[in-house]
Amino acid sequence: ESRRFARNLQQVLELFETTCRTREAELGRLDAVAGDGDHGQGMVLGAAGAVEAGKKALTRGAGARALLVHAGTAWAESAGGTSGALWGAALTAAGRALSDDEGADQGAAVRAMLNAVEALQRLGGARPGDKTMIDAAVPFAETLFQEFSRTSDLVASLSAAAERAQVAAQRTAELTARLGRSRVLGEKSVGTPDPGATSFALLMGVLGDYIGQ
Ligand code: ADP
Ligand code: MG
Ligand code: MG
Repeated sequence: ESRRFARNLQQVLELFETTCRTREAELGRLDAVAGDGDHGQGMVLGAAGAVEAGKKALTRGAGARALLVHAGTAWAESAGGTSGALWGAALTAAGRALSDDEGADQGAAVRAMLNAVEALQRLGGARPGDKTMIDAAVPFAETLFQEFSRTSDLVASLSAAAERAQVAAQRTAELTARLGRSRVLGEKSVGTPDPGATSFALLMGVLGDYIGQ
């Protein structure tokens, strides 16, 4: 059961990599407006590193927890950059909420995602309004928690959370960057959505579609 879950998680990582490759140029352009333009590249390298590590972990018989812990470490190492460290920590934190021996029920899957967002907040120290991925991740976690508490329906809750993240990511266009590299050119970022918030919403949409299919 846990092995099957681990294989599903590996498929999600593969979808993340494909999606990042497809959107690499666009994410790079967003980051070039007020940052250093490498966000698309960082996401591709991170996701590819995670996929490689996940493959190796699966051949060694890893369960869900070990798979995500290894994938997260590899994401951070392969990506470099701020967002790479944050995505790595988020995957690892999600893994730590899961078991290697049992499959995850829907509640455990929700707890893993909430744990991942907490790790993003803790490690990055960003607050809502700073124009970072937190501006998509926090509304995502809020909606996921609220909807799942109300309905106990993972597919519907995740779909609602991913949609909220998408709207929130678009709205970061109105904000001035106060953290990360873009703070230097903060005013220049007004009118363009934050790259890290955009990629977060994008990948949560992919995750929601995968779970819903
Ligand atoms: P770098 O800034 O090192 O080049 P990336 O370009 O890959 O890294 O990622 C930039 C993104 O990282 C930003 O768009 C923002 O969403 C996110 N980010 C930067 N600093 C923080 C932080 N302290 N907390 C959360 N997210 C952050
Ligand atoms: Mg960058
Ligand atoms: Mg950089």
